[in-house]
Amino acid sequence: MIEVTQLHKSFGSLEILKGIDLDVHQGEIVVIIGPSGSGKSTLLRCLNCLELPTSGTVKVEGENFADSSGRYNEKRVAKLRTEIGMVFQSFNLFPMMTAVENVMAAQVKIRKKSKEEARKTAEKYLKKVGLAERMDHYPDQLSGGQKQRVAIARALAMEPHIMLFDEATSALDPELVGEVLKVIRELADEGMTMVLVTHEMRFAEEIGDRIIFMDKGMIVEEGKPDELFNAPKHQRTKLFINQVL
Ligand code: ATP
Ligand code: MG
Repeated sequence: MIEVTQLHKSFGSLEILKGIDLDVHQGEIVVIIGPSGSGKSTLLRCLNCLELPTSGTVKVEGENFADSSGRYNEKRVAKLRTEIGMVFQSFNLFPMMTAVENVMAAQVKIRKKSKEEARKTAEKYLKKVGLAERMDHYPDQLSGGQKQRVAIARALAMEPHIMLFDEATSALDPELVGEVLKVIRELADEGMTMVLVTHEMRFAEEIGDRIIFMDKGMIVEEGKPDELFNAPKHQRTKLFINQVL
């Protein structure tokens, strides 16, 4: 589904990603862990074409975002963006729109659906994330966990093939984390292909098919959750896991 080859990303003279190779297969759940500043968000943003690689390639379902000169191919980007849903730490909802309007917006604008059709789909996904009773609430009338579930419904309403989660629970009060993880777990059970960045190590261990440990812009080690958490091979992985568990 996703094929990343020798991905490098610099901001000015600062090299943030230093040659990432990563394949994600259909139905696979890949969890990325690593210290702050190691480049996890930058990597996710490259997968979704929110950042352009400095060099290397990102292919989604066999298609490259950029041409050989590194320039975006706008048409491809637009198409691939609809195939990848992304959920951020900050929910990025439109404050002047209700939950259902938030979930409708991109369907109408990008998918060119009629309002009626978009509303139906929005209601379906809001129900799926347990917000049937909150459809007409505005973001500031919702809890953090509810806002994040609206954001997930909004991504799902585009019917993506892949979902990316960047610390989807980091901004939430501890008692609200569970309701968001539950939704992600249900998506996993349905076979959604997912790449998640998380600091919830227990959740990572439980949900991940594969764990990737990143440090300083490189993949230091990857493996099955049991291997990586219980028998890490590299010193840096050991140190990190001892610190966070
Ligand atoms: P965290 O766990 O804190 O979210 P991260 O692993 O997601 O960290 P990134 O957000 O990918 O790390 O950032 C990696 C480095 O790249 C950081 O040093 C950050 O300051 C830098 N960086 C990220 N985006 C930009 C940008 N647009 N311009 C300049 N530097 C950036
Ligand atoms: Mg980050």
